[in-house]
Amino acid sequence: MRCRKCGERAAINLRQHRLALCAEHYLAWFEEQTARTIHKYRMFEPDARILVAVSGGKDSLALWEVLLRLGYHADGLYIDLGIDKGLHYSTHSGEKAADFAAQHPTAHLHIINIAETYGESIPQLARRKRQHQRPCALCGLIKRHEMNRIALESGYDVLATGHNLDDEAATLFGNTLHWQASYLKRQAPVLPADGEGLARKVKPFCRFYERDTAAYTLLRGITYIYDECPYAIGATSIQHKLTLTQLESRAPGTKLQFYVSFLKAKEEGLFCREEMPPADLHPCKECGQPTLAPERCAFCRLWYAEDQVEAENLQSTS
Ligand code: SF4
Ligand code: ZN
Repeated sequence: MRCRKCGERAAINLRQHRLALCAEHYLAWFEEQTARTIHKYRMFEPDARILVAVSGGKDSLALWEVLLRLGYHADGLYIDLGIDKGLHYSTHSGEKAADFAAQHPTAHLHIINIAETYGESIPQLARRKRQHQRPCALCGLIKRHEMNRIALESGYDVLATGHNLDDEAATLFGNTLHWQASYLKRQAPVLPADGEGLARKVKPFCRFYERDTAAYTLLRGITYIYDECPYAIGATSIQHKLTLTQLESRAPGTKLQFYVSFLKAKEEGLFCREEMPPADLHPCKECGQPTLAPERCAFCRLWYAEDQVEAENLQSTS
C-alpha cells in the first residue's frame, strides 16, 4: 500500500477514512486533524494556557506533544494515585510523565501525590471505604476534583484530557444502554467553565481512534506506559470497547459515526424538549468547589473523619 500524498510505502492505513499514509505524512495529518478539532469545537484560543491531564499513557502524552508542536502553552498535571500493587503502575506511569517533561524543558509538569496531600493513597482510601475490589468510582471522583483544583488555582484557561474516540464511543454506549440522560447531556468535546468553580474541559482527541494515537506515539518515538491500571481489568467500559470494536471490524467507521451522529443529534435539539432543571450548585464548605450536597462535596466527605461529624452534631445540639 502506498501513501496517498507522496506514493512512498504507507506506514498506516486509516480504513475509516480510506486513507493510507507514510510515517511523515501521517504525523503531519494527525497534528493537522488535532488543530481542526480544536478549531471546529472552539476549544481554546491560540494564546490559551492549557493544563493537560497526563497519566503517562499514550493518549495524554501524545496530546501534550501535539499541543506543544502546534505552538500552544501547554503544561502537564500528573496525579500520583499510589496504585502500586503488582506492576507498580503509579511509579512507572509517573516516570513516563516525568521523562516526557524532562525532554520538553519549556513545559512544566505539576505533580500531585494523593497520599502525601490527603494522607491516603487510592487503595488505602478504597479499603477504608470498602470499595477495594473496584475503586474506580472513588478514583474518578478524586482525579476530577484535583484536575479542576489545579486548573483553577494555577490560572489555566482550560483543562485538556486525552480521551480518544474509543473512550468516548464506549462511554456513549454505556450511557445509552442505561439511558442516562443527564450524562448524555453532558457528554461533549467541550464542557464550558461553569460559573464560579468548574474549569473548562476539552477533549482534542475525541475524533481519533485509539490505534491512531498509538501509531502517533510510536512514530514520534514517545515512550509511555503500556500496562493498564490493575483495577481496569474487567471494567464494563472495556467490555463496551470490545463490543464496539467487533462492530467496527465489520463496518469500518462505525465508532466515528456513532459518536459524531450523537453530537449532531444534540446540536439538532435531541434534549431540547426535556430541558433538565438547572442544578442547584453551591460552594463546598471545605474546598469551595461547586457541589449539590448541602455542606461538603463528595470529595471532601471522603477525607472528613466521622468523629468530626459527631463533634459537629454535638455542638449544634448543645
Ligand atoms: Fe483509577 Fe480505576 Fe482508572 Fe485505575 S482503572 S486509574 S483505579 S479509575
Ligand atoms: Zn469540597
